[in-house]
Amino acid sequence: MAGAGAEYLASIFGTEKDKVNCSFYFKIGACRHGDRCSRIHNKPTFSQTVLLQNLYQSPQSAAQVTDGSGSAISDVEAQEHYDRFFEDVFLELEKYGEIEEMNVCDNLGDHLVGNVYIKYRREEDAEKACKVLNTRWYDGQAIYSELSPVTDFREACCRQYEMGECTRGGFCNFMHMRPISRELRRELYGRVRRNKRPVYRSPSPPYKRRSTSPPYKRRSNSRSPPPRRKSRSRSPRR
Ligand SMILES: [Zn+2]
Ligand SMILES: [Zn+2]
Repeated sequence: MAGAGAEYLASIFGTEKDKVNCSFYFKIGACRHGDRCSRIHNKPTFSQTVLLQNLYQSPQSAAQVTDGSGSAISDVEAQEHYDRFFEDVFLELEKYGEIEEMNVCDNLGDHLVGNVYIKYRREEDAEKACKVLNTRWYDGQAIYSELSPVTDFREACCRQYEMGECTRGGFCNFMHMRPISRELRRELYGRVRRNKRPVYRSPSPPYKRRSTSPPYKRRSNSRSPPPRRKSRSRSPRR
């Protein structure tokens, strides 16, 4: 009987049915109640993912706080600022090992604002990075890093936000992941996983160019059926 009980507990672990463990902490790596949460935040001993808390400071929200205008900087400038930050952090963190993905929250709630999640390929690398980063500074502020239970970002992010329909706005408790520019994505991920993810390198954006460009790139033109747009489904459209 005890066995069945344990099995049941394992099956509901970290879900809303679990009255002991906090489902928000488990899925999103942060919960608005923080240390005062009535459920347990099970900090992992090993994980592929490192969380850097509140690291990104958007110039847009800074402008909002200081003069209430929020318009001191254009969207283009904001994107450039964000891309620079992302690239900077990505290249630094890559020194510890291969990164599978890095995500930055665009949320405004204290527990999520500017959170950076880096998922490494290997747990050892995450551990190493986490230890070192905790002793370092970025742009004048101390870095707070911890191993995070989040490894499945599909589960952690807000579906409505991706459809442009989240009514909770910046204070939503699911991740609103801020996208980087397409060029940067290609540059960072294309380089790292040259062999595994051809998706980022060639076909995805359905630009007009494709139809006019010479067909060098299609290798097996003559043998395969007309290019199946299979890769489209995996292209990073967020
Ligand atoms: Zn909690
Ligand atoms: Zn949302």
